[in-house]
Amino acid sequence: MSHWLSVLVATPAHAALGSVLTYRSGAPLPAGTLVRVPLGKRETLGIVWSAQDVESTGELDPTRLRDISGVLEGMPPLPDSWQQLVGFTAQYYQRSIGEVALAALPPSLRELSPEQMQRRLKRQARAPVRPAAEPGPGGPLTLSPEQAQVVQRIGEAAGPFLLYGATGSGKTEVYLQCVERMLDDDPQAQALVMVPEINLTPQLEARFRERFVQRLGAHAVVSMHSGMTHPQRLQSWLAAHTGEARLVLGTRLAVFASLPRLRLIVVDEEHDPSYKSSDGARYSARDLALYRGRLEGAKVLLGSATPSLESWHHSRDAAQGGRYERLTMPSRIGQGAALPLVRRVDMNHQPRGAVFSPPLLEAIQARVARGEQCMVFLNRRGYAPVLHCAECGWKSACPHCSAFRVFHKIDRTLRCHHCGFTERVPRACPDCGNLDIAPIGRGTEQLEEQLAQLLIDVRRPDTRSPEHPDGLPLRIARIDADSTRLKGSLQAQLDAVHAGEVDILVGTQMIAKGHDFRRITLVAAVNPDTALFSSDYRAGERLFSLLMQAAGRAGRDAALGAQSEVWVQTFQPAHPLYAALKTYDYPLFARQALQEREQAGLPPYSAQALVRAEARTQEAAQAFLNLAREGVESQMRHWDGWAEVVDKITLYPAVPTAVQRVANEERAQMLLESASRPALQHFLSGWQSLLHASRAEPAAKGLIRWAIDVDPLNI
Ligand code: ADP
Ligand code: ZN
Ligand code: ZN
Repeated sequence: MSHWLSVLVATPAHAALGSVLTYRSGAPLPAGTLVRVPLGKRETLGIVWSAQDVESTGELDPTRLRDISGVLEGMPPLPDSWQQLVGFTAQYYQRSIGEVALAALPPSLRELSPEQMQRRLKRQARAPVRPAAEPGPGGPLTLSPEQAQVVQRIGEAAGPFLLYGATGSGKTEVYLQCVERMLDDDPQAQALVMVPEINLTPQLEARFRERFVQRLGAHAVVSMHSGMTHPQRLQSWLAAHTGEARLVLGTRLAVFASLPRLRLIVVDEEHDPSYKSSDGARYSARDLALYRGRLEGAKVLLGSATPSLESWHHSRDAAQGGRYERLTMPSRIGQGAALPLVRRVDMNHQPRGAVFSPPLLEAIQARVARGEQCMVFLNRRGYAPVLHCAECGWKSACPHCSAFRVFHKIDRTLRCHHCGFTERVPRACPDCGNLDIAPIGRGTEQLEEQLAQLLIDVRRPDTRSPEHPDGLPLRIARIDADSTRLKGSLQAQLDAVHAGEVDILVGTQMIAKGHDFRRITLVAAVNPDTALFSSDYRAGERLFSLLMQAAGRAGRDAALGAQSEVWVQTFQPAHPLYAALKTYDYPLFARQALQEREQAGLPPYSAQALVRAEARTQEAAQAFLNLAREGVESQMRHWDGWAEVVDKITLYPAVPTAVQRVANEERAQMLLESASRPALQHFLSGWQSLLHASRAEPAAKGLIRWAIDVDPLNI
């Protein structure tokens, strides 16, 4: 007697083959069971799916059905709620359900045979570690009144919550104690704590471990991020899936962890753009966390010092009733711990072309001479963004992209940051032979070099030995994507900063986020203005939050807080964004920004989607998009009941993307907007068929790939 099963497999997003296939099995298997199935000539991992989701073909030929090859024995089926989460994600982000489901599982699960899996599971089922009885050094802190109020409120209300807390207000301690309370209520409960960046995980992980390993045992606290090896990820995933792990700390991919007893989800730095995935299903882990919380009855806590304008807009104090309940912690922890003074340097009154204005340089000099640390950041790595020949006008364009290659002086290369194409710097201008080719603009490498030159005579005090009464030379370090390419090098460099082995830290936004640098007393943004003139309407929001974050790096030690400073070099000192920064007034900034968004009809006052297309030619990319757009009026409008939906959607014409050619592929995009999110959702589900059809048109020949990005972050 054989049973028919619907099985999800990973098929490419737009493959003709659906992602739910039918197989035969000797025994009935519950939905959520992991199986191995033949697919073409391969064998692959599949998930038994609930019958109602089968794309019913109606005419299955039983003689052509294939048998499943095996079942992953000993693995509990994926819970219903997990299946629903995956189903929702696929639907909302317009991807195939098989692709989403299989991508949400750890890679090893796809690679291992049922026998290998058996061995893994046995190894995993080791004896539980007995929790130690006495509280260790990492025990709970006595909460400040603000913290206590927030923790209590989260305990008694349903949420979801937006915790708006200044940097240094002790949000992490709130997360920790919320988890403790959850465990007090239900010792078997599971919590998911999400952080934006891998490089922030070790610090946070250490704090959580310290706190909970005593209570729960070492295997109950696990991490999940893409920096882990496949076996490590599998181990964490299994621990979560079996309920052994009670606390999962992870990046955005952890939102798909199978957690049968999930009761609490924390999304730290909820505004961070890295919660949005930029390939495959372009999901927002923050938004999915909220959905998942509703689905599973788990409390959701979003935390930030600069919430996303979306979350801010949707949140209200308890009495006012909003979609999220807003909780506020305005004060920094520690007696009289003040936020650093913000100083704007009007660059209109500084020597032309100076990277460092004289007053900033003096301030840095004074601080390092006292043995304090400074941090200087600029959002551009490399030495200079362009090399230029003044004779003939040659510039270091990338032959494969519509972008310039960046000059990296350290290894004397020209590197394209879009496609990676790298060459030695030419000795002379490749076009005219002029020997005098010069860099234009500057990046972090150049800042590092210039600081070293400008401060060459400055000494730092030698506090350890009396042998150097005149002090020692300065130590300048740089942290950016280039300096941290090797595994472990970021941690080593951060450790050096913490250990006080660095006087000035130069870097990109990487250093402005999250790290708890206690001894930095001066933070400088060298050239933040570019974001004010960006074509991306979210650039201002990102800049404000970055500067607030950076300011939060300074004066973490309460004793140093009052004397700490944040320097902003700007040609627009009166810009409202900087004025709000000066007083650390996020609500003021948000009010201004939301007003602008409302007037322009932008999110959160509307919903958007973007279709991106990549093709051999720009014409093909645009033709593909415009054909699908024309089909809306010529066809879709006439479908039964769709005119009403179509009327609610604005489709803008296709345009080239900001960097139009990358690695010899032309890129175009089309923006869709609607005042109604459900209408946009509904529209997209119907419009997909037109996109598929327009791909087949002769004008779209040369199209390589296309994808829909729902709630896009970069436009
Ligand atoms: P945030 O995440 O809000 O920026 P943190 O959670 O990092 O702030 O807290 C800032 C500092 O204050 C940390 O060093 C933390 O250990 C300390 N801290 C937090 N809460 C307390 C408390 N209740 N008592 C003493 N120190 C605290
Ligand atoms: Zn030239
Ligand atoms: Zn390139």
